[in-house]
Amino acid sequence: MELKVIKTDNPKKKPTGALGFGKYFTDHMFVMEYDDGKWHDARIQPYAPFTLEPCCSVFHYGQAVFEGTKAYRNKKGEIRLFRPRDNLERMNNSSDRICIPEFDVDFVLEALKQLVLLDGDWIPTDEGTSLYIRPSIIATENALGVHAARSYKMFIILSPSGSYYAHGLEPVKLYVEEHYVRACIGGTGHHKVVGNYAASLKAGEKANSLGYDQAMWLDSNEHKYVEEVGSMNIFFAFKDKVRTPALIGSILPGVTRKSVIELLRDEGVEVEETRIAISDVVEGAENGNLKEVFGTGTAAVISPVGDFGYGGKDYAVGGGKMGELSRHVYDELTGIQTGRVPDRFGWVVRIK
Ligand SMILES: *Cc1c(COP(=O)(O)O)cnc(C)c1O
Repeated sequence: MELKVIKTDNPKKKPTGALGFGKYFTDHMFVMEYDDGKWHDARIQPYAPFTLEPCCSVFHYGQAVFEGTKAYRNKKGEIRLFRPRDNLERMNNSSDRICIPEFDVDFVLEALKQLVLLDGDWIPTDEGTSLYIRPSIIATENALGVHAARSYKMFIILSPSGSYYAHGLEPVKLYVEEHYVRACIGGTGHHKVVGNYAASLKAGEKANSLGYDQAMWLDSNEHKYVEEVGSMNIFFAFKDKVRTPALIGSILPGVTRKSVIELLRDEGVEVEETRIAISDVVEGAENGNLKEVFGTGTAAVISPVGDFGYGGKDYAVGGGKMGELSRHVYDELTGIQTGRVPDRFGWVVRIK
């Protein structure tokens, strides 16, 4: 397939103040459509609204998937992507779960590189900033029947984003959610499927209203085992080893999660992917065997956890402060992403 490039005649003014997250979008986007059994009309075009009919299938049954990855530009003007192929492959896996046709990863990766280069001037360079990349696929058949749509639209938009940590890496407070669940085995929790996020909002609001930052999710069956936190994976650094929930089918296989495991193992730290009972976490917090807890995800990279509330009691971890291991992993990962630390794993795709 050929990639058409239609450049804007009307470049937007770039934001000057604080960027925040996901509020500003660059001049161009990637778009392609799927009809009659194939993806077609791949193009980079000016960022613009779509026109969709009210009967468009995505509005009714939520057949849609998305991804999130980042491009980084340093002061030397170099531009890097972090493991972008993993995101595109995961997107195809998510699509397969909800009957969306797959795309050619090599083709879309090349298109993504061209798009990021074209809007390269939009990538901020300050410490902690990046260009957030949001690929999405939506079902676009004009029909109300409940079936896999015959038409789709894929698009990639770019959003210059500020540091996730406007006030430094402050530990978050988690509320262990014992009523609502994020995902169950056999459901869609292993995939970045749009409906998962609508289903998680209520618990997030509940956590906030009780004075916590985010929900910590337990398993759907017994409400005993830790799965994730907000939309991040979670790590527990116990005295003897680091533990993270195993990918049993209800947990999103994060690229950051995988990178943290590979990084720590490479440094000789023991990392166990296993079932982690909330009762063991409570016990570790009480007897001091639990040293640190942190979440991992593309947006925040590492999010240290200072406290968690469970069964009406609050527990502090690491004295409520960011620990050494969390800080180290954050520095290493962001160092590799921006070029400050050599990339000994081959994770980075440098495009400029
Ligand atoms: C995206 C996501 C993550 C983190 O994945 P990364 O690839 O590290 O960004 C974790 N949990 C959920 C539910 C997610 O949607």
